[in-house]
Amino acid sequence: MSLGNVKEEIFDQIEAAKQRVYDIASETPLVASQVLSDGMLSLKLEHVQPTGSFKIRGATNAVLALTPEERELGVVCCSTGNHGRALAFAAKKLGIPITVCLSTLVPKTKVDLVSASGAKVIQQGISQDDALEVAIDVAKNSGAKLIPPFDDPLVLGGQGTIGLEICQQMPDIDTLLIPLSGGGLAGGVATAVKTLKPSTRIIGISMDRGAAMHESLRAGKPVAVPEYASLADSLGGGIGLDNRYTLELCKSLLDEVVLVTEQEIYDGMSELYWKDLIVAEGACAVGIAAILSGKVQVSGPTATIISGRNVDPGQFSQVITGSSITLDSLTLTGGVT
Ligand SMILES: *Cc1c(COP(=O)(O)O)cnc(C)c1O
Repeated sequence: MSLGNVKEEIFDQIEAAKQRVYDIASETPLVASQVLSDGMLSLKLEHVQPTGSFKIRGATNAVLALTPEERELGVVCCSTGNHGRALAFAAKKLGIPITVCLSTLVPKTKVDLVSASGAKVIQQGISQDDALEVAIDVAKNSGAKLIPPFDDPLVLGGQGTIGLEICQQMPDIDTLLIPLSGGGLAGGVATAVKTLKPSTRIIGISMDRGAAMHESLRAGKPVAVPEYASLADSLGGGIGLDNRYTLELCKSLLDEVVLVTEQEIYDGMSELYWKDLIVAEGACAVGIAAILSGKVQVSGPTATIISGRNVDPGQFSQVITGSSITLDSLTLTGGVT
């Protein structure tokens, strides 16, 4: 598969997804942030989506594309939480049976949210890769269709509709900062934005521990990384050793990948709350963390995607009150910056 083909294939998927995703997902606002006093930073508010994250776009697109026979047999997925919740919501709306496989690293808040959506939940294994193996088994044994969390044309197409909206809402965009894990969000959105406004600088942001896409881009092939507890738990997990789309898209469409520390994410979450009064996951604060730490220089109108709100309330209140949090061997605390 040559790169031009992948980008064109996914752009076609985005155009098609535009006709489907709004059956369930919302078009979201883009608003000015108070984090930078010069008004240069805007936030794309995906955390206001039904199910609390942008994942509802890809999930809706994938579910609406199923054949009647596939709907009968149901769907299965592995997830760090948000894809599972989104897919469960979309599947339930259409009366499709769904199983969600989660590792034991997924925070309890997210496990409960997925269960509450009516999905059958299997929590097993200590990594995303383990959860994927369980999901593959379920698919084999039940005939259910596996809907991947990111490396899938329909999922990429759904997430890419965010890029279409951003180009319309912010025609003068200079830089776009995208939280980056498996690259479904970054790959889809960058396909749309680089097609419609090629001059846009697009930067993927990951946490510095277990940054699978970053390591894979450096190695030139998918590599497995250890998975750690993170404030940005939605960014955990590998990119899949048989990655077909997202590595190629990130390699060709991202101008840069920047890594932020857990302390920088902590500070970003706190800023986002105290300046903009937004309750969001650590995964959403990585763009703000990259700016506040000076790792990304703002050179013109800049946007970042506030990708989800499914945060653990206890941990969140610790962050915004500047309390100490211990993650593995790291201690994070307020008032550092
Ligand atoms: C899934 C997710 C991401 C990362 O998306 P990828 O497509 O895996 O790169 C970022 N933020 C939130 C809240 C997510 O749920």
